[in-house]
Amino acid sequence: MNERLPEPMQERYSRHLRLAELGSEGQRKLLAARVLVVGCGALGAMLASLLARSGVGALRIVDRDFVESSNLQRQALFDEDDVAQRLPKAEAARRKLARVNSDVSIEALVTDADARNIETLMRDVDLVLDGTDNAETRYVVNDACVKHRVPWVYGGVVGTRGLLMSVLPGSGPCLRCLYPQPPAPGELPTCDTLGVLSTAPATIAALQATEALKILAGAAPARGIISIDFWQSEFQRIEFAADPHCPTCVRREYPFLDARRTSTAFRLCGRDAIQISPMRAGSVDLDRLARALTGVGPVLNNGFLLEFAIEGCQLFVFRDGRVLVKGTSAPAVANGIVSRYLGG
Ligand SMILES: [Zn+2]
Repeated sequence: MNERLPEPMQERYSRHLRLAELGSEGQRKLLAARVLVVGCGALGAMLASLLARSGVGALRIVDRDFVESSNLQRQALFDEDDVAQRLPKAEAARRKLARVNSDVSIEALVTDADARNIETLMRDVDLVLDGTDNAETRYVVNDACVKHRVPWVYGGVVGTRGLLMSVLPGSGPCLRCLYPQPPAPGELPTCDTLGVLSTAPATIAALQATEALKILAGAAPARGIISIDFWQSEFQRIEFAADPHCPTCVRREYPFLDARRTSTAFRLCGRDAIQISPMRAGSVDLDRLARALTGVGPVLNNGFLLEFAIEGCQLFVFRDGRVLVKGTSAPAVANGIVSRYLGG
C-alpha cells in the first residue's frame, strides 16, 4: 500500500510523507486529484498556491478579472508587473505556479464561472474550491456540486472577519441548509464597501485548503461552519444539522443552476463598473478589434484583453466577449457605449 514515490517526489513532498495523517498514501491521492478553483482573487490565489505546492495533480483556475493595484495589498501571487500588463488573474496565477511546481497541470480560464458553464468547468474534478467574492456564484456552485455530488469548500472574507465550511453532498448540510436564500443586493457589506484586512483571506484560504487536502486524502473535514474575527481574535466552529426541508440537498431543486440570466449587463458589486456578457459564447479577435479602434485613441492589447478609454469610461474587452465598463454604475450608459463602439 505504502509504495514509495519516485525519488524527486520523495524529496519534494518529504514533509508531507513524514506526517502520520498523510504519508505516501495520502500524497498519492493528492497527486492524482483534480480541483476547480472558482475565482482567483485573495482567496483563490492563495488556494491555488497552497494546492500546487501540496502536489494536487491538476488545477483548473477560473477568474474573470485582471490584476489591479488595489489587489496587491492581499493577493499574494501577483505583483506590479502583472498590474502594468493588465494580466488576467487566472493567467498570472498559472505563470507563477508553473514555476513553483512544474509537475502540476494548471489550466487558466479567463471567464465568468456561472450557471451556463459551471457543470462543464467541474465535469472531471474531485473537488471545487470557492475563491469568489459574490453570493450569486456560490449558490450556483452549491447547486452544481450537490447535483453532481462533488464536495466543495465555501470561503468568504469581509472586513476583519471570515468564514468557511466544507460541503460534502450526501453527508451533512449544504450552503442552503445554512442560508436558504442569497442576500439581497447591497444587504451585506463587501470588501469594496467595508474593506478587508490583508491577513484575513490568507488565513481563511489556508483553512479552506486544509479542508480540501483532508477531503482529497480521504479524511473527514471539519463539521459545521468555522467563523473567525481576526481583529478580536475570536475563533468559533458551529455545528448544525442538514435542514430536512432544504430545497437543494433534500428536494434536489437547483434554481440557481437552472436560472437563465435575464439581463446581460450587471453591476459589479461595490464597484463603479458594469460587466456586459455576450449573448452567445464565442471568442473575439482582439487584434482585429484593436485595428478597428485605432482612431478612438490609445489601445492596450495584451492578447487576453483590450483596454481603451472612451466617453469618460475605461473599457476592457475580454477574449470571451465580455466587456467591462469602468467609470459608470448605470447599465444603460454602459450598453450605449458598447453598442456605439463595439457594435454590441
Ligand atoms: Zn442543504
